[in-house]
Amino acid sequence: MLLLDKTDVDRKLKLLRQEITERGIVDELRGWNYDKPPLQPLSRSVKFGVSELAGRYCETLRDIYLKRVLGLKPSLSVKMIRGTALHWAIKDAVSDVKKFIYNNPDATGTELLRDLLSKAERTGWAAASKAELTINILEQKDKDQLVKECSSLYSFLIIQAAAKFDYALSKYPHAEPDSIVSVAVPPVTERKVDGALVGLASELSVDMYTPYNAIIDFKTGEVRHFHPLTAAGYALAIESEENIPIDFGFVVYLKFEKKTPSFNIRYFVVGDELRREFLEIRDEAFEIVNSGRDPGMPSKCQDFCPYYQVCQKG
Ligand code: SF4
Repeated sequence: MLLLDKTDVDRKLKLLRQEITERGIVDELRGWNYDKPPLQPLSRSVKFGVSELAGRYCETLRDIYLKRVLGLKPSLSVKMIRGTALHWAIKDAVSDVKKFIYNNPDATGTELLRDLLSKAERTGWAAASKAELTINILEQKDKDQLVKECSSLYSFLIIQAAAKFDYALSKYPHAEPDSIVSVAVPPVTERKVDGALVGLASELSVDMYTPYNAIIDFKTGEVRHFHPLTAAGYALAIESEENIPIDFGFVVYLKFEKKTPSFNIRYFVVGDELRREFLEIRDEAFEIVNSGRDPGMPSKCQDFCPYYQVCQKG
């Protein structure tokens, strides 16, 4: 799975399955019950992005009021550009590996490595530049650092993919490229999902969707308590569209402490409590947009909130 160690994932999933067996997930909180409360959205006309609801920097949801009622844009930071660029580097690596295997059915991991590693710097630069153009201009030192991180992440993933490619070839010597891809690089990146039935945007993009019926969400900043809410939003959207249960969420925290990236993974069940919390935020956000009410400020604002400057001016 490139980023995740299969043995580690299997061990964690065994424990999480046990948790589901003991506590279950109530059917009324599955996305396919989108036509009944509490899933049924209060409005079909207002649709929220998952990160707009799940990114709960602001406990009172004043960010929703500022954006949706007053039409103010959040200020975008270097951290946000970094996050976007690193997501692109992951997406490019997975997509390049798949393309290589389809286009070179007789190749081996060594050839994949040779071909794609030579593109690492170019891909890193392209990912950083695309994020910079879409979001904001970076200072040269920040851009150089970001190019380095994107290239290093891309290289790391290509090296993992080459090993998994060889392993798949050796285990299944008669398999077609399509099967080899599904063994060596199973996850779907940036999987599109229509969340309209549960009051979410109609073109949501899930970071990774895995054969374990799990949502993987990448984070490039600090650990925040609300991060699992993102998996809850995507789980509800996929369940409403596909009628299949999504039980697990993985938040992958990406860090660059040395030259290579490292990953800390938080595994959890997308359980009742998380689903209810996400739905409560969705309904409260709708009420704010519908009434135009300013929900006021929480007792403490974090200076990393994208509306910090706006709210501090009063
Ligand atoms: S600065 Fe405070 S009140 Fe304003 S959106 Fe951020 S957390 Fe909410």
